[in-house]
Amino acid sequence: MLETLRILEEIQRIDLEIKSLGEEEKEYMARMDGLGAELESAGKTAAAMEEGLAALREQLNGIEDRIRESAERISKDEGRLNSVKNDRELNAITKEINSANKARKQGEQEKAALMARVQEKETELARIKEELQARQEEFDRLSGELEARKEGWKSAQEEKLRARDVKKAPVRPDIIRKYDMIRSRRGGLGLVLVKEEICQGCFTHIPPQIYIMLKKGTEELQSCPHCHRLLYAELPQGELEAV
Ligand SMILES: [Zn+2]
Repeated sequence: MLETLRILEEIQRIDLEIKSLGEEEKEYMARMDGLGAELESAGKTAAAMEEGLAALREQLNGIEDRIRESAERISKDEGRLNSVKNDRELNAITKEINSANKARKQGEQEKAALMARVQEKETELARIKEELQARQEEFDRLSGELEARKEGWKSAQEEKLRARDVKKAPVRPDIIRKYDMIRSRRGGLGLVLVKEEICQGCFTHIPPQIYIMLKKGTEELQSCPHCHRLLYAELPQGELEAV
């Protein structure tokens, strides 16, 4: 069984490498998913802000129209002052000029306040767009990197699977099946070391008789009674580790 255990350990090393290749790819995908979601939400925010800005600018146009109308009225009234015939007319024109002046002044104030708001929103929008662009660039960079590395991962994985096939050839198929089944249920570890009677997979004590059998090297594979992983014991240096 020692030889079988030694091979299983090598197979497990390959399996862990294959798993970590897959995880690397998953990590990329997760980062891209996150960025994609951020891009979408920032894009929506920017679009809503553009809409708000367009409404403000329209409001601003309306105010500017009102200011222009007041100014026109004032200059027309001022022209009429030259041909005024009596006090009553003078009073009427003066009153109109005053009211137009007041309207213009109010319009100017509203315009100033609105322009400040527009400017504030424009600054914020520019910041969001800048962020959006930076995220987009990061997304494009990751996506390019992912494409470039995919081939490498695929061929590395295939190579490892071939190496695995070669390694497992001398091992009884039912043992490989058992190892595979435990590995798939136990987070990728189907075979673990027992160190001082403690299973290094689930860190519980195993019965001393199993430990003794492991140390001696038995004909049958031993499993941890708690996590069911296949077990191997520390051996005198070189026997299991030396490959
Ligand atoms: Zn265990």
